[in-house]
Parts: sequence; structure tokens; C-alpha cells
Amino acid sequence: HLEERVSFATDDEIGRLATAFNAMADNLKGQERLRKQMTADIAHELRTPLTSMRSFVEAFQDGVLPPDAENLAALNEEIDRLVDLASDLKDLNVAEIGALTINSEPVALDAILSKVVRNLSPLLQEKEITVTWEPPEPGHEVTLNGDSRLLTRLFYNLIQNAYKYSEAGGSIAIRLQKSPDFVQVQIRDCGIGIPDADLPNIFERFYRADKSRSRETGGTGIGLALVKQIATLHQGSVAAESKLGQGSTFTVRLPLERQGTKKQRLPLPQS
Ligand code: ADP
Repeated sequence: HLEERVSFATDDEIGRLATAFNAMADNLKGQERLRKQMTADIAHELRTPLTSMRSFVEAFQDGVLPPDAENLAALNEEIDRLVDLASDLKDLNVAEIGALTINSEPVALDAILSKVVRNLSPLLQEKEITVTWEPPEPGHEVTLNGDSRLLTRLFYNLIQNAYKYSEAGGSIAIRLQKSPDFVQVQIRDCGIGIPDADLPNIFERFYRADKSRSRETGGTGIGLALVKQIATLHQGSVAAESKLGQGSTFTVRLPLERQGTKKQRLPLPQS
């Protein structure tokens, strides 16, 4: 019945009711479209690692490839991709249907950034990437009310991207600034950069700039969609600037005090 609309000629109560009804119907149609699109995207994303896993198994069975450590590690990477995809999808999905309620607890943002840098340091060292990150002096920590798990996820995704899209030997700078009302975190890399044409779309789910080069880095195109949802849930924002071949800067702004209730919900998707 989603195609049905109420036609009306008056602007009295009935007319206003009809307007509200039509707006609801439009919203439902939008959600239906979004769901269909997401299902198609997910099917597509699942197919790639599964196809690759099947080729490995078939090659082992036919004796074309030896199931040695190297090939098993490659197979394992595809399994990891599926596992990452499943957890990203779960978080993104609950965020988008508005069911992701966030905890509101005091969170030390600098401690989160230090933790993420520490967790990524084996990868960063392997690629010889230098990270500039100076946590504030004791007594000047930046604390805001938010959800520590989700904020960790947000910065993990951004710093992991800075690493993924940097050449070996590159550098990443992380800067934390506090103003009276909000805090700003900037993550700057000197990596491959993002083409101008792709820049407006990178926060859309499953969007990957320049498919061929992205394929090599083994991502899902969900990371930044989740970053945006988490920033929005905290009544904050995220923006990107980039120059192809020179690097990218992602800027996250989070209010120190959030308005409204303890539990925060996202508005329903409009698309
Ligand atoms: P992915 O899993 O592909 O990394 P994301 O949603 O995290 O997905 O990012 C979407 C796309 O934006 C990436 O495929 C990549 O093309 C581009 N991108 C994101 N971060 C960077 C960065 N720091 N440098 C260059 N390109 C980036």
C-alpha cells in the first residue's frame, strides 16, 4: 500500500492529516528503497571473499596449490574480511535503523586516541609509518560525555584508513584541540589522497574511491559510513579534505556537552 497517497483539497484538520499521512508514506517508501539497496550491496560484498575462498579450496582439492602456510594465510585473510564485514554491518545496521542507543559516560578522548595508536602500532611499524601524536599534559586531558566503545571505533576506523591509504615510510599526524564548546580531532596523512569526484561520496556505505586501487587494500566501504553515524549520534560531525597524491585530512568535531536525553537515538533514515 506504499504507493497510495491521499488526495485532498482543504487545509483544515483533514487536509493537515492527509499531508502528514503522505509524508509518512513517502518516508516508508524511502526506507523500503534503502533496505533493498542495502541488501543488494551486502550480497555483492559477500560474494567477493566467498568466491576467493572457494577458489582456494578448489585449488587445494585439485592439487593446483599446496595448502602451505602462505596459502592458508591468504585464505585466512579472506575469512577475516568476512568477519570484519559482519561486525561492521551489524553496527552500521543498528545505527541506521535508529536502534543504536549510546551510553553517556565521561570518556577521556586522549586516552582513546593513545589506545588506538598503540593497537595499530605493529601494523604502522611494519609499514614504517611515523605517527605524530602528543597526548595532552596530565591535568589537561579532554573528557566528554559519550560512548567509549563507539568513539574508539570511530578513531580506529579513521587512523586505520590513514595507515591503509599511506605508502610505506609515510607519516600520520593526529591533533586534538579543545575550545569552550567542542573538541576537534584532526587526522592527517600524506598518503594517496582521494579524487575530487569521489570526495563527496566517501561517507556513503559501500562507497570506495577508485575500485581497482581500493581492492588491493581489502576494505568494505563501511568504515566511513560508521564513522559518520557515530559522530552524528554524538551530535558531532566529520569532514574530509584531500589532494590526490598528497594526502587527506579528516576532521571530527564533538560537542563537549550534548543536548537532550541521556540515551540518544538517530532520526530514521530519509533516503
Ligand atoms: P574502506 O573499507 O574501503 O576503507 P571506508 O568507508 O573506510 O571503506 O572508506 C571509503 C573509501 O574512501 C575508501 O575505499 C578509500 O577509497 C577512501 N578513503 C578513506 N580514507 C582514506 C584516506 N585516508 N586516504 C585516501 N583514501 C581514503
